Amino acid sequence: MSKMWAIVKEEAKPGLAFRQINIPVPKNDQVLIRIKKTAICGTDVHIYDWNDWAARTIQPGMIIGHEFCGEIVAAGQQVHGFSVGERVSGEGHIVCGQCRNCLAGRRHLCRQTQGIGVNRSGAFAEYLCMPQTNIWRIPDDISDEVAACFDPLGNATHTALSFELIGEDVLITGAGPIGIMAALICQYAGARHVVLTDINDYRLELAREMGIRWTINVSRQSLSDFWSALKLKEGFDVGLEMSGSADAFRQMIDAMYHGGKIALLGIPDAQARIDWQKVVFNGLTIKGIYGREMYETWYKMTTMLQSGLDISGLITHRLPAEQFESGFQLMKNGQSGKIILDWANVSPSAG
Ligand code: NAD
Ligand code: ZN
Repeated sequence: MSKMWAIVKEEAKPGLAFRQINIPVPKNDQVLIRIKKTAICGTDVHIYDWNDWAARTIQPGMIIGHEFCGEIVAAGQQVHGFSVGERVSGEGHIVCGQCRNCLAGRRHLCRQTQGIGVNRSGAFAEYLCMPQTNIWRIPDDISDEVAACFDPLGNATHTALSFELIGEDVLITGAGPIGIMAALICQYAGARHVVLTDINDYRLELAREMGIRWTINVSRQSLSDFWSALKLKEGFDVGLEMSGSADAFRQMIDAMYHGGKIALLGIPDAQARIDWQKVVFNGLTIKGIYGREMYETWYKMTTMLQSGLDISGLITHRLPAEQFESGFQLMKNGQSGKIILDWANVSPSAG
């Protein structure tokens, strides 16, 4: 059987390995994808580091990775509507199809979701098998690199489009890749002011370079100092929490107008405390966000990219796949946007 190169969590400890594995064979309802580009996500870094969540969740031997773009090279007998040669990305959450939410078309809320690169083989490999239900075709005017970022762009899109944005003042905490993309979407969608906070100057500078007009380093400056410049009377209308920091979430709660709406994508510590009285007395709405809507989010992000949304500047580093180790180190020191791994010509001796 022919082999492929893949990035594997080999042992139950920190680190990852570049290994040769059998190329998977697509089942009847699956396509086989030749991976072209992948992007590294914070989740992959958690798996690399072997934090508590990873140790509880990942079976050693797992091929990791879930942000990808590739080309269909084979299809199972029951696959219809897709053909060999098509450029695709895909939704990494494989749902059960039978629970109440799946049956109602709310597949992002399935209780039995299996994640590629987490619970089943992932995309950091030369080949990936996926059910045809999860494949998303990439139009010609969207590059491989940008398509490899559809998974996090989908998180940003799903979160940002959770609430009405036209004319609203939006606070986004956390200028990681997802926060920056969400800020671009809110500006694109017609918000009045979009304010993006972080404590990392590299990230805020990257956001400014990409056209985000209001960026604040909250380790040095206070949000309230900007109130009058922003012409804010009563606070922010919409908040998108994208840092996972409880401090940021508390700051957001304090900065919202009464009746404000908050979407929470960042994953805070399970025991993080907030002032619930403010949530009640100020009539705040808080919505938890997981993943992307299948497939309305995919549709919207594709069409926004085709009509002027530009996220390409977020890609700050490009590496051959075999040099993944450098990519993970860059991610860890916070001096990067999205990092792309190229799988077109894998030659491990160069790694
Ligand atoms: P990231 O770690 O690259 O970015 C988070 C940013 O928050 C960093 O730049 C960090 O400096 C900043 N930050 C830390 N403390 C802050 C504070 N007090 N105020 C403002 N900013 C602060 O992460 P990312 O890849 O952009 O993802 C964003 C968040 O969303 C993470 O928490 C991630 O775990 C989470 N996430 C959730 C889902 C989901 O489905 N719910 C999916 C993907 C990512
Ligand atoms: Zn389900």
